[in-house]
Amino acid sequence: THHPKHSFPTRRSSDLFKRGWRKVNREEMMQLFKNEYGVDNREIKTFLSPGRVNLIGEHIDYNGGFVFPGALTVGIYAALSLRDDNKIRMRSKNVAGEVIVNLDEELVYKKEDDWGNYPKGVMKALKDLGHEVPGMDIVLYSNIPDGAGLSSSAALEVLMAYIILYLENPEQIDRVEVSKLCQKVENEFVGVNCGIMDQFAVAVGKKDHAILLDCASLYYEYAPLNLGDYSLVIMSTNKRRELADSKYNERRAECEKALEIINENKTEKLENLCQATLEDIESFIKDETIKKRAIHVVTENERVKNSMEMLKANDILGFGKLLTASHMSLENDYEVTGLHLDTLVHEALKIEGCIGARMTGAGFGGCAIALVDNAKVEEFKEKVSVAYKEVTEITPSFYTSNIGEGTHVLN
Ligand code: ADP
Ligand code: MG
Repeated sequence: THHPKHSFPTRRSSDLFKRGWRKVNREEMMQLFKNEYGVDNREIKTFLSPGRVNLIGEHIDYNGGFVFPGALTVGIYAALSLRDDNKIRMRSKNVAGEVIVNLDEELVYKKEDDWGNYPKGVMKALKDLGHEVPGMDIVLYSNIPDGAGLSSSAALEVLMAYIILYLENPEQIDRVEVSKLCQKVENEFVGVNCGIMDQFAVAVGKKDHAILLDCASLYYEYAPLNLGDYSLVIMSTNKRRELADSKYNERRAECEKALEIINENKTEKLENLCQATLEDIESFIKDETIKKRAIHVVTENERVKNSMEMLKANDILGFGKLLTASHMSLENDYEVTGLHLDTLVHEALKIEGCIGARMTGAGFGGCAIALVDNAKVEEFKEKVSVAYKEVTEITPSFYTSNIGEGTHVLN
């Protein structure tokens, strides 16, 4: 019999989440595979598909602005062996049960396949394009929470696409195409209306670099992110996102309104709100709410550009200040934060050694990020945790991560 070096949790990842994450290496994933499927002489391949975080550039992707995400050094791991038939067996250490896919049959969305629909959708999309999807046994293990805004769904989709293409030809994987295909799967097969940022960051991520990305044109550039004496701390509110969808639509409509008003007053029409100036906003928009929304958009876009400059100049302190300014704008002008995110961020900023903090993602729950002096991280987590719990009665979770590679083989 074989014993894993560490025991893997078998509960839902929300429990795992509370227990904090643990990094896993290739050996452990191979052991996990053997525990799940038994020992034989098949070769085991291992992969890691990271979660992602948007560092700055919030709620401007639909206004023609840039997002600025990075892939994490943690995410969803996979171990697999090929089978000599057309069956795919999938297990996840984070979810009970097994999903079986027969590649000779039509691949369709099935409610009972639950999480298996993400990889199934990817298999179908690649098959439809003429790629070979081989039979395999596969087991997953994730050390990022799902449903918390770190894009576990994108990690899962890109993981499957990468695996299939890697098995076909490791030299010819077009990561941008992978991200487009996976977004399409999430939109059409799974039925979630997400943008391209998540899949893009997961697939195209680069170690110690943020990605400056125009979601409309897919123009992108890497910016060096050498945190040096600071750590990126991800703080989860541990509160499910609420209102996010309806408020998201409301904000989009407000931005459209702002653009419309400005364009009514200008002879040279703007294509999007990010092209407006603060002067345009001040002179033409009378409604205070619409004005505030537009101010966030225009200033946030500036902050993204400034972030790029700061990082190129290795000015982490300056970058930290921009993160905080972004939060204040999202809190006061765009109004998408709420008690939980605000409490995390404000408590974080009170702690010595924290040089910047902000909510990340759509808002109303999910996660916030902070840059914290390496030597102060433990103290930081403790203090913020106590203060946050006092206000919200929820214990937050903390994760430290560097910015890592996009989906890759785990050696
Ligand atoms: P997010 O992408 O923000 O984490 P989503 O709701 O978009 O949240 O995606 C979460 C879903 O992805 C889960 O409900 C599950 O179906 C799937 N998923 C994520 N991680 C895993 C995992 N480790 N094993 C199996 N399924 C997973
Ligand atoms: Mg998702």
